[in-house]
Amino acid sequence: MDVAEKLAILAPAAHYEACDTHAVAGRRYQSTKAHWSENALSAEADAKGVRRPVMRLLMSAECVHNCPYCPLRAGGDVPRATLTPDEAAAAVAPQLQRHNAGLLLSTAVVGSADASGSAVVDSAQILRNRYAYRGYLHLKLPPGVSHAVVEAAARVADRMSLNIEVPSAARQAVLDPSRDWRSDVILRLRWMRDLYQAGQIKSGIATQFVVGAAGESDQELITATAWLRKELAVGRVYYGAFKALAGTPMANARSTPQVRTQRLLQADWLLRHYGFAAEELAFDGQANLSLAHDPKLAWALHHPELFPIEINRAPAEQLLRIPGLGPLGVKRILRLRTLGMLREPAHIAVLGAATQRIIDFVTFDGRFFGTGRTMQIARRNANKPIVEQLTLF
Ligand code: SF4
Repeated sequence: MDVAEKLAILAPAAHYEACDTHAVAGRRYQSTKAHWSENALSAEADAKGVRRPVMRLLMSAECVHNCPYCPLRAGGDVPRATLTPDEAAAAVAPQLQRHNAGLLLSTAVVGSADASGSAVVDSAQILRNRYAYRGYLHLKLPPGVSHAVVEAAARVADRMSLNIEVPSAARQAVLDPSRDWRSDVILRLRWMRDLYQAGQIKSGIATQFVVGAAGESDQELITATAWLRKELAVGRVYYGAFKALAGTPMANARSTPQVRTQRLLQADWLLRHYGFAAEELAFDGQANLSLAHDPKLAWALHHPELFPIEINRAPAEQLLRIPGLGPLGVKRILRLRTLGMLREPAHIAVLGAATQRIIDFVTFDGRFFGTGRTMQIARRNANKPIVEQLTLF
């Protein structure tokens, strides 16, 4: 099989594994599909939070594992191909140059975790040494990879990742008992953390959940996310929606709606930038986030006793909890307060469209100008079914 034929197989296969949603500076990017073409660019933030085009290449679509949701699993009936490190580097180098792009390099587990991880590292080294590639490199290593390979990867990578998939050993046992969650995944992430904290991985560590594959709740995912950030210094946590794909043992399971992954991302954003603790978020009786409301609005609706807030006196951290108000809006309000008392909505008109939402949650020098519209809409939306467009992948 020549390289072009291999790429024709590996490009669509990259759909299945890639981190396809990135949150950067409060904005979400939905990447394009990972076709091996000029459209294969997606967005990923570098060490400085700058969004850059990133190409993705899956080096192998052959796998010894049998994750039940994955079409690349050993028992799956899909075309297979594996690029050698030389082939991968030679194929990707001109594309990276043409697009001035970064690269996310990953692989299924062909042979062993170490053999596959080494192939990824070798390919990265060839890019750096033979093709003088100095751009952004994100290397995704397979679970169970050895310390030596993790260390070697850290020497060439800007960012490293290893997919966690599920939030606990108990969920791993449900999904795929052949993998040891603590050893194959968490221990390897610890190694990455140590290298990151030693200054060897400058753009940090990432991981990804497959949301909904193991019956886990949002609360489990968010609690695990908070732990990953605190204990393992994981900088980026991605939430990929489980899709029930034909030809897998989970073909008849219910696919996870994309909106669920959006809510998880928003909740994670609240933990990172808004001072929320995981246990503060509003979860329903099944320990899930509301699909109808963003987590900040859902939290506010659960705490009517905390509103309205006096806009002239509330500290920044309290203002930050008002639905519709982000760090920039809070900064603006604090600046406006230095100019004089805010007595009516017109005094915060500089906030634009957010003003209408905010007035339902604040008083201006003791006066309330809210209409209750935000709550009315929220209640109406709470009863609406979530309708999503189906995608092929
Ligand atoms: S290890 Fe990765 S590629 Fe292999 S079956 Fe599991 S999810 Fe698929």
